[in-house]
Amino acid sequence: MNSEEIYRKACGMFPGGVSSPVRAYKAVGGHPPVIRQGKGPFITDIEGREYIDFVLSFGPLILGHADPDVLAHLTETATKGLSFGALSEVEIQLGELLTRAVPGLERIRFVNSGTEAAMSALRLARAFTGRTRIVKFSGGYHGHSDSLLVKAGSGGATFGIPTSAGVPESVVKDTISLPYNDTEALKDFFSREGKTVAALILEPVAGNMGVVLPDEEFLIAARNVTDENGALLIADEVITGFRLTYGGAQVLFGLEPDLTLLGKIIGGGMPVGAYGGRADIMKMVAPEGPVYQAGTLSGNPVAMAAGLATLNKLRTPGLYSLLEEKSRILGDGIVSIARSLGLPLKVNRMGSMMTFFFSNKPVRDLESAEHSDTRLFSIFHQEARKEGLLLPPSQFEALFLSTCHDDKIVNLALERFKKAFESTRSQA
Ligand SMILES: *Cc1c(COP(=O)(O)O)cnc(C)c1O
Repeated sequence: MNSEEIYRKACGMFPGGVSSPVRAYKAVGGHPPVIRQGKGPFITDIEGREYIDFVLSFGPLILGHADPDVLAHLTETATKGLSFGALSEVEIQLGELLTRAVPGLERIRFVNSGTEAAMSALRLARAFTGRTRIVKFSGGYHGHSDSLLVKAGSGGATFGIPTSAGVPESVVKDTISLPYNDTEALKDFFSREGKTVAALILEPVAGNMGVVLPDEEFLIAARNVTDENGALLIADEVITGFRLTYGGAQVLFGLEPDLTLLGKIIGGGMPVGAYGGRADIMKMVAPEGPVYQAGTLSGNPVAMAAGLATLNKLRTPGLYSLLEEKSRILGDGIVSIARSLGLPLKVNRMGSMMTFFFSNKPVRDLESAEHSDTRLFSIFHQEARKEGLLLPPSQFEALFLSTCHDDKIVNLALERFKKAFESTRSQA
């Protein structure tokens, strides 16, 4: 079967032909690629076209595809059995690395996805505080659990309008959405209603409205208003954990959350999530405490082994500064190409995650992100694909680099970016 036939078959079988919506390429047009394999910085579709991959499974593959050390550890572990539904040593080993690396993690519980981590942390925060309200930020994505699927309205606070059908208003009436980076709106809301809030959940660097960097005072305020009002601060580091530096954004910013969510990189490409934080809060989780949360495959040895091998490799001295250097060259290169062609482009980057917005305005929240020219982005995405670049199929996703994206690959990518921008401009 060729990719056309496979995709047609998939469309009859899966909603939209995919297992997760953004993969259907609705935002950029064209058929989604059908992938045969990945190796290092490259991904190959079943027609044999090879792309430089900047999607990297939407974040987890910081070591690139099929890293030999990760594969070796994973296979060795798998030969001894895939899952036991019981404690095993590799769980402890990964847990130890995580609790040592992430300052806010005194104790931890493994789950199977970022969604589960966020959902479980909310339940825990509500139980711990005895309150029900949750505050999130517009454009912040924390997985698809009901309470967190709230329409992010631009402007002031938006109360409980579900983003998805099937989410009862009774569930999301307790979720409040505020504009990202708006320190005044945050302080103002908490000064009025702070005592009713169980938790404030945020991405320390936003990655799901495209990359948006936080103001320092915004992060400080997030910590202060929660402290002052007895609410918990939940740092969603599912993307940023071990992406920005070993540990995550809280290491970089000196942020001290009460609870932390992890996923993506800590599973090294396998389905893993985790939540954890202050010991006095975590001891409320069953069976020690009354907050029920469980998982048949949670902490399974194969997934743990992939995460462990990945984290061990990420401890290599100088690894993150090399990654930063390559990412800077790519980000700066893209800016200067766009400028020389007179294309409006704003690049938001932190370490090896970045988004270039087709916009002439700085992007610092959902409203300004949505100001981008998504038509131009979709033209660009298709041109980039013709040139052999696989980019996230939406203006509002982050582009990632891996440790396999060396100088040679970055330079090759920049040549391709240049051609893609040129053909985009001729159609603008
Ligand atoms: C990806 C992501 C999630 C959800 O993780 P899944 O494993 O897809 O359920 C949650 N929060 C953030 C910040 C994410 O980027």
